[in-house]
Order: sequence, then C-alpha cells, then structure tokens
Amino acid sequence: MTTGKAYVASVFEKVKAQNAHEPEFLQAVEEVFESLVPVFDKYPKYIEENLLERLVEPERIVSFRVPWVDDKGQVQVNRGFRVQFSSAIGPYKGGLRFHPSVNQSIVKFLGFEQIFKNSLTGQPIGGGKGGSNFDPKGKSDNEIMRFCQSFMTELSKHIGADTDVPAGDIGVGGREIGYLYGQYKRLRNEYTGVLTGKGLTYGGSLARTEATGYGAVYFAEQMLKDRGEDFAGKVALVSGSGNVAIYATEKLQSLGAKVVAVSDSSGYVYDPEGIDVDLLKQLKEVERARIVKYADARPSATFTPAGEGSIWSIKADLAFPCATQNEINEEDAKALVANGVIAVTEGANMPSTLEAIEVFQKAGVSFGPAKAANAGGVAVSALEMAQNSQRTPWSFEEVDAKLYDIMKGIYDNSAAAAKEFGAEGNLVVGANVAGFLKVAEAMSAQGIV
Ligand code: NDP
Repeated sequence: MTTGKAYVASVFEKVKAQNAHEPEFLQAVEEVFESLVPVFDKYPKYIEENLLERLVEPERIVSFRVPWVDDKGQVQVNRGFRVQFSSAIGPYKGGLRFHPSVNQSIVKFLGFEQIFKNSLTGQPIGGGKGGSNFDPKGKSDNEIMRFCQSFMTELSKHIGADTDVPAGDIGVGGREIGYLYGQYKRLRNEYTGVLTGKGLTYGGSLARTEATGYGAVYFAEQMLKDRGEDFAGKVALVSGSGNVAIYATEKLQSLGAKVVAVSDSSGYVYDPEGIDVDLLKQLKEVERARIVKYADARPSATFTPAGEGSIWSIKADLAFPCATQNEINEEDAKALVANGVIAVTEGANMPSTLEAIEVFQKAGVSFGPAKAANAGGVAVSALEMAQNSQRTPWSFEEVDAKLYDIMKGIYDNSAAAAKEFGAEGNLVVGANVAGFLKVAEAMSAQGIV
C-alpha cells in the first residue's frame, strides 16, 4: 500500500515538473503538501481517488488581453488572468490583484491558498484568484476607469454571482471595484452580487473594508490568549500601509498595543509614539501618497528608504506582515526572534518564506499562517454575498461580531486539527489540514470530476 509520504512526494514531483517556471506556486504547494502526509495515512481512499493531483490542477485558467487608451491617447496592452481553482464547496471566490509583478505563478499560488482559506471560514465558497500586470501607481482616475472597463469586458464572460465572485487585493480597492462593477452591470444588465468589496451605496457590506486587518488581529488575540498574554502594552510592527495594514494597525491600537512602524514599497517609517492612524488613512486612502509623507507630517517619525534597512530589524513583541509575498526571509526572521518577538501574524499572503517559518517555529514564536489569519476579508465577502442575496444590509456591529466568531472558529479548528494530526501548536499544519478535509470530502462525494 502506498504511504501518505510516498503519495504526496510523487504528486509533488509531477507538480514540479509541470510547473517548473512557477516558483511562487511551487512554494505554496510545498507548504501545504508537507502538512497533508498524515491525512493520507488516515484516509487512504483519497490516495485511491488521486485527490491531491486533481486538487492541485486548477479547474480552469483564463488569460486575456486588456487593451486600453492612456491619457496621452497611446494604446496600452496588459495581461489579465482569472484562475478558477476549485469549486468543490462553492462558487469560486478570491480577489483581483493589479500589480506589475502579477503573472500566472502569482495568481496560481494565491488561488491555491484561497481554496483552503475559504474552506476554513466555514462558508460555502470555492477558491479562485485573478488580476493583471497593470500598475495603478501614477495613473489618473480616468486611466484606472478605462483599464477596469476593458478588464471587465472580458472577465464578465467568466464570472457571475453563482459562478465566480471576485473581490479586491493589492492595487484593487473601493475605487477599482466600483468601476469594475459599473461595467459588469452595463454589460449584463444584472444587479447581482458578482463582486464583493463594493461601496456601501451599491450593495457593499459594512466592515468589509476593515475585515482583513481586524480579522488578523482577532486571530492574533487567540494566539496570545493561548500564551496567557494580551495586547496591553505590546509593541507591534505592521508592514505595508494599504487596506490590510491600516485596519490591522487601527484594531491593534484600539486593543492597547502600540504600532511603531508601517511601510510601503519605497521604505518604512518608525514612529516610537505610535502610528497616527487618521494621518495614515488621509495619506494613503485619500491622497494616495508615498509613506515618506507620514514622516514629513509627524515630528516623532523617521523614514528609512527601501534597501537601507528593514522594518523587521526594529525591536517589537508582535509582527504583522501585511504587504506582500516573501517579505520576511530567514535573516529577517532571525532578527525578529533576537529582538524578542512572541507572535507573528500573516496579514499578507505568504509573506514569510519557508525558511523564515521554520525559524519562528523552532524559536517557539506563535505563528499565524496567512490562510487562517487573513481569512477575515473573504469571510466578510461571503457575508456580503449573503446580504446581497437577501437584499438586506446588516449593521457594522452584526458583521464585526460574526467576523470575530469566524476568526475564533478558524483558530480553534486549526489548533484542534494540529493536535489531532500529531503537530500540536503548529497552526501551519492545523490550517492546512482543517482547510483540506472539508474540500476533500466534498470532492470525494462528487465523484471524479
Ligand atoms: P493594498 O494595495 O491596499 O496595499 C498593499 C501594501 O503593500 C502597500 O502599502 C504596498 O506598497 C505594499 N506592497 C505591495 N507590494 C509590495 C512589494 N512588492 N514590496 C513592498 N511593499 C509592497 O493591498 P492589500 O492591503 O489589500 O493587500 C496586502 C496583502 O494582504 C496582500 O498580500 C494581499 O494578498 C493580502 N490580503 C488582502 C486581503 C484584502 O481583503 N484586501 C484579504 C487577504 C489577504 P506600495 O503602495 O508602495 O506598492
């Protein structure tokens, strides 16, 4: 009989051979696969059904041309993607990323992670992801609108409220979702919940903007509780200064922690008096300014340009990477540990390299992996879908309370799965296993499709 270890290794060899030029995708797959070995030992029928090889192959990938005209009248062309990874437990669900680094490997890694994350929320949503190598930085509102309209003209053929429901991600916030939604409605003549993260005047959910950041902090609260700790008086680092970072910072400070640093791709600011969240929101959400402006406006803050130092070298108790993938490498992880960090919570997707995770786990740092810790965004997106179907909006408090319960549930289920499968305290294993089991059962029940 094939062992779980041999089965997982043989599938991974095939995945490597077939996706040799997709390093981010392989990194995400490797992390998940390692955790699943004991699951296949316990449930050999999943080996007979070759479930893993089926799961790791996206159900569908759409890649398309996005032509648009810039303000100078020049025709520009970008590449759009939607990876519809798994519909085993619900319609495809996952964000759209607009960033020059977007390619098939990036959308596949994000889509693969999304399958497990969405399963962990306990809601009926499958896994998907998409985006474009379009760079929104420095573009006018009109250019953003024309790009979004062109992108949606093709994407609209592949999505729908019961098929695939995209949301925001890096470079796609409220403004972009608005333009995308307007174009979808115009093309299809349908007022449905086909996108989440919508504005409050046209079907959005209260607390969706805050959900990923708040959710990550609720998750961290559970990790701290398990150590007999709370946020009072803790010093925290939050990388990024976008949607996730801003609302993680806001919630951390409201619970008694002090966030002393935030960043963007141009560098980081250190503010020992604690980040002024209102100023940060004004600069990032309204003015769309670079982070150096924060230091210009706050006498207590200093700016360090990217390449001249790392945010992870600052002494702190808590770290919340909330910018992008692979932003914490082994060296950064060692610096955080040497400075006494006790908990690392991933607000971004795959911000820690595999080597960095190992450093944290060996040092006894509580480590909250992305697919569990940042699931609050998609969880509230699913609540937005529910409100759209019911045509009834819920209050902020109602959504926030549901978010809190979902995050606690994810923590409890991940911790329990880790224990059941011989890795007590290892939330990476726990989240992977707990997320996988529901999807596997659903796939198994639906036959070889
Ligand atoms: P935003 O676009 O709002 O903000 C991203 C932030 O990260 C910006 O400050 C940006 O700086 C910085 N950043 C992005 N790429 C890089 C890079 N290559 N190097 C350094 N800094 C970078 O995105 P979000 O806050 O929505 O997303 C942040 C992370 O959270 C992503 O990993 C995303 O996948 C994840 N996430 C988001 C969810 C959501 O609901 N929005 C849900 C779950 C996960 P700059 O402006 O200079 O580029």
